[in-house]
Amino acid sequence: MAGFVTRFAPSPTGFLHRGHAYSALTAHAAARAADGRFLLRIEDIDQTRCRPEFETAIYEDLAWLGLGWETPVRRQSDEMADYAGALDGLAARGLIYRCFRTRKEIAEDIGRAPHGAMEMFRGAPLPRHDESHRLAAGEPFAWRLSLAAAEAALGGFGGLTFVEEGSGPNGEQGVIAVRPELGGDVVLARKDVGVAYHLAATFDDALQGVSHVVRGQDLFEASHIQRLLQALLGLPSPVYRHHPLLTGPDGKRYAKRDRAETLREIRARGVTPEALRRELGFD
Ligand code: GLU
Repeated sequence: MAGFVTRFAPSPTGFLHRGHAYSALTAHAAARAADGRFLLRIEDIDQTRCRPEFETAIYEDLAWLGLGWETPVRRQSDEMADYAGALDGLAARGLIYRCFRTRKEIAEDIGRAPHGAMEMFRGAPLPRHDESHRLAAGEPFAWRLSLAAAEAALGGFGGLTFVEEGSGPNGEQGVIAVRPELGGDVVLARKDVGVAYHLAATFDDALQGVSHVVRGQDLFEASHIQRLLQALLGLPSPVYRHHPLLTGPDGKRYAKRDRAETLREIRARGVTPEALRRELGFD
């Protein structure tokens, strides 16, 4: 397929496990099948959670698996000025606002909302004098996307769609109508981090000419938010191919927090990359 570009975009917050290997192999195989390009992107914007040894391990583990990728690799922490520029543009258009509420306050609000946990946070900018006061006091804040302002800017969300060539967690396929309310007024930047995942990933997918986003179904809902950001930023929309999440013998998905066996542990047991690839369904 002409111009097929995909990427694997891990965050170096831990060692890669089988779930990552499956996702990287799936994206790599898709690029190969389409005679396209495979990129690796390091999503390390949150320097409080990312560690250099995990980034080094990503390169080692993927190379061990037999994958090759284009260089130079884009490292998001080196590109903060790009995201700041995008954020400034959104701020100038009144599409984002500073939110000073803590996570705890928001969780309490959501708990009180009529639809319970399903009700995502929606807010509004503070009155100017109140905001200046808090800024002067050095209070932390997050930049949130205003769905109300976004809806006004786009003349409504009707007609906003993305194409799913894989499937969502509930079997969603084909042309998907975007439901921005799924994410509420999402955080696009935090005072301490400078940018948040949705904005950095959306910006980079466009900048890097990604035509197909191949990733796990856990990020299917993120596509609704990212498609909205594409519309607001005037960026092209890639095709999405979400794949099912790999599950272990206990039927549970592999996850860092459950201490899933890492690729380096698998390697240390003497398993060959060929054997692991076969186990995951790749030759
Ligand atoms: N960095 C994200 C993660 O590790 C993946 C982002 C994406 O594929 O869009 O979960």
